[in-house]
Amino acid sequence: MRRLAVLGSTGSIGRGVLEVVDLFRDRFTVEALAAGGNVALLRRQIDRFSPRKVSVRSRGEAERLKAEKPHLEVLWGEEGLVALASAEEVDLVVIAVVGAVGLRPTLAALQEGKRVALATKEVMVMAGEWVIRRAEERGVEIVPVDSEHSALFQALGGKRKAEAIRRLILTASGGPFYHLPVEEMQRAGPDQALRHPVWKMGPKISVDSATLMNKGLEVIEARWLFDLPPERIEVLIHPQGIVHGMVEFVDGSVIAQMSRPDMKIPIAYALSYPERLPLPYPVLDLHRSGPLTFHPPDLERFPALGLAREALEAGGTMPAVLNAADEIAVEAFLKGRIPLGKVVEVVRRVLERHTWRPLSGVEEVLEADRWAREEARKVLEGIR
Ligand code: MG
Repeated sequence: MRRLAVLGSTGSIGRGVLEVVDLFRDRFTVEALAAGGNVALLRRQIDRFSPRKVSVRSRGEAERLKAEKPHLEVLWGEEGLVALASAEEVDLVVIAVVGAVGLRPTLAALQEGKRVALATKEVMVMAGEWVIRRAEERGVEIVPVDSEHSALFQALGGKRKAEAIRRLILTASGGPFYHLPVEEMQRAGPDQALRHPVWKMGPKISVDSATLMNKGLEVIEARWLFDLPPERIEVLIHPQGIVHGMVEFVDGSVIAQMSRPDMKIPIAYALSYPERLPLPYPVLDLHRSGPLTFHPPDLERFPALGLAREALEAGGTMPAVLNAADEIAVEAFLKGRIPLGKVVEVVRRVLERHTWRPLSGVEEVLEADRWAREEARKVLEGIR
């Protein structure tokens, strides 16, 4: 039995995790659940999976839930997430919260020697170097949930580092505007951006997929997960979304991982690794999927990709600033305040205003994150 804590259980990934768990009750138990805003769904998950501990966003919500379910241990806030991630009865911690709040619980889980299934890419973007160092010190594994990184992890046979790697290739669908003229794409609003052609995902990541910022963040994530210099991590546009990642080895062999674009496949792998679960979903039919095509991304159409590489190259607090500024800009876009084309511009301006600092401690990273959010809001005021 693998005993799970699922942080972010009501989000798109968290729901997928519980769907897989529900299919394999003989392999997994749910010991702890943490949710953000959707307490109604959390209640249903509690009834179905009977965790011992849960955590919610605020003290008020925690008190209401505790009054309803007196036998449940109810925690709240970031402290609650950290407590669940380090709980004694847990073996595998799924980190699927949105954003910077995932950092402390990830470090806590690793510190306690627990395996981490990581979906929150922001954790690696903000502080990948330390997170990996902590995992190495404690001798625990981080299994990626992000589909591209899961693909690379699978192609490498679970080994995080391989001397034999020449290049890693991350694929990107190109998002919903791939065939639109650039000017039209830049004027696009939230309704259009949320219609992703391949994947069903949350709103933030759907917008990041339209700008390709998501792929930029994934390059940063891959740099730390697989310990490879950024120039050996490439991106290819692959609109069919069948090949999720490829590893090119020094002898010229390339191993690709393919599947239908369904997040439950990488989710299930992260839960059961190194074993595989017999999933009852439709299989990949290459005959029907038609030709698979690949081409390099146009950096003028997708400036976010270049910006993310610059932030990675600069290092220190820059990737955390990139990530935080993007979160605020995307939020403004989703509220209809700025068109798609302005999202990356806001991020660029915030990066330009940031004074680089080395990565010295969790507090400094979180401070850079707070600064970038505030600065992004100021830049947005100027745009309106
Ligand atoms: Mg991905």
